Amino acid sequence: MRSDVPALLHDVFGFPAFRGVQQQVVSRIMAGQPTLAIMPTGAGKSLCYQLPAVALEGCCVVISPLIALMHDQLRAAQAVGIRAASLTSVDSDWRETQDRLRNGDLDLLYVAPERASGEGFRSLLRATKLALFAIDEAHCVSEWGHDFRPDYRLLRPLLDEFPDVPRLALTATADHHTREDILVQLGIPHDGMIIAGFDRPNIRYAVHPRDGLPRQLSDLIAAREGPGIVYAPTRAATERLAETLTRTGRPTRAYHAGLDPAVRAANQAAFISSEDMVMVATIAFGMGIDKPDVRFVAHAALPKSIEGYYQESGRAGRDGEPAEAHLFWGADDFARARQRIGELDPSRQQGERTRITALGGLVETGSCRRAILLRHFGEDPPASCGNCDNCLNPPASIDATETARKFLSA
Ligand code: ADP
Ligand code: MG
Repeated sequence: MRSDVPALLHDVFGFPAFRGVQQQVVSRIMAGQPTLAIMPTGAGKSLCYQLPAVALEGCCVVISPLIALMHDQLRAAQAVGIRAASLTSVDSDWRETQDRLRNGDLDLLYVAPERASGEGFRSLLRATKLALFAIDEAHCVSEWGHDFRPDYRLLRPLLDEFPDVPRLALTATADHHTREDILVQLGIPHDGMIIAGFDRPNIRYAVHPRDGLPRQLSDLIAAREGPGIVYAPTRAATERLAETLTRTGRPTRAYHAGLDPAVRAANQAAFISSEDMVMVATIAFGMGIDKPDVRFVAHAALPKSIEGYYQESGRAGRDGEPAEAHLFWGADDFARARQRIGELDPSRQQGERTRITALGGLVETGSCRRAILLRHFGEDPPASCGNCDNCLNPPASIDATETARKFLSA
C-alpha cells in the first residue's frame, strides 16, 4: 500500500490538488470505512475510487451500469497508467483478465451488476485480493431513484460476502428518499454519507410557458453564441425540431437512440468539435459526454424529474463561464405525465407522482429557481440567487396555478 496519497494525485492523475469533498471520500476509503458519496456530475467521482485503487493493495471492483460508460472510464484510467480491465460481453480478453486478477496484476476491474452478482464471478473474487468495491451510479439500486435497475439489488449479498472490503457508493442524483434507500440497500451507515455542493452559480436558469415552441427556440438560438443542446421529449420531435432550427442558419443536428449508430457517432463527434452547433437530442445524448463549452441547454418539454433536469441542464457551462438553462413547458406535459404514471406498476406510481409534483414546484414558482433545485438536493440556499429569471425579474404577482396538482390528483 502506498500512503503518499498527495504524491499519487499529482504523479498518476496529474492534478495539483483534490477538489471539493474528494479528499474526505478518499480518506474514508483508505481507512476502510463504507461511504456514500453524493457529488454532482463533473465533480470528479471517478478519482474517489481510482486513487485508492492505486494506493491500496489489491483490486478495486467497479460496478457500472453501462458498457459505454465503463469503456470510457477504462480508456481514461489506462491512459494514465492504471492497470485496468473490464469483463463485459464485448470484451474478448476474459481469460487474460481473470489471470491478471488472480495474480494481483490489476488495480481496477469494471463489471456490470448482473455479472458481478453471478456465482462464477464471486468464486473468481474469492481467489483475488480485493481493495474496494465501488458502486457507480448507485441511485440505480433504489426504486425511488429515477433509473432503477433491478440487477443492482443483487449486489448486497456480494458485498456482504466480503465484509472486510470497504464499499463506496457514488451518485450524482439522489433526493432524500433515494439517499436513505441507497444506504439501506447497500449497507452503509448514515454517518458514511458525504454530500458535495450542488450549486452551479454560472448557470442562469429560466422557465417559459410554451407558446409557439419552434419560434421560441429559433429566437433563443438566434440571440446566443456557442454550442447548445435542445432536449426534446421524443425521437420524432427531435428530428422535427432539428429541421426547423436548421433554418436559423445555425448548424444543427439530431441525436436519439433510433438513429443509425454511424450517424449518431458522426453527429456526436461533430458537436464535440464544434463551436456553434446546436444538438437537438433526446436524453440518450449526454451521458459520458464531456464538452466543457456548452453555452446553453434548452428543454422543449418538462423533464422526467428534478434530478434529470439538474443533470441535463448541468451539461451547460462545465468550463465555469456564464451559461444558460431554459425550460419550456405546458399543461399538456403534466397530462402526458399523468398518462405515463397510470401505465406504471402501482408500486412505482407514488414515487413518480412525487417527482412530477416537485417539477411543478420548479416551473410554477415565483421565487428563486436555484433555491428550489438546491433544496431538493438537501442544501440550504440563500433566498435569492441573483442569477435566475425570477431573481432577475421578480414576477409582479405570483400566480401559481398548481398545474401538477390539478393533473395528478386522483
Ligand atoms: P463525475 O463522475 O463526478 O461526473 P469524473 O470523475 O468523470 O466526474 O471527472 C470529471 C472531470 O474532472 C474529469 O475530466 C477529471 O479528470 C476531472 N477531475 C477530477 N478530479 C480532479 C481534480 N482533483 N483536479 C482537477 N480535475 C479533476
Ligand atoms: Mg462518473
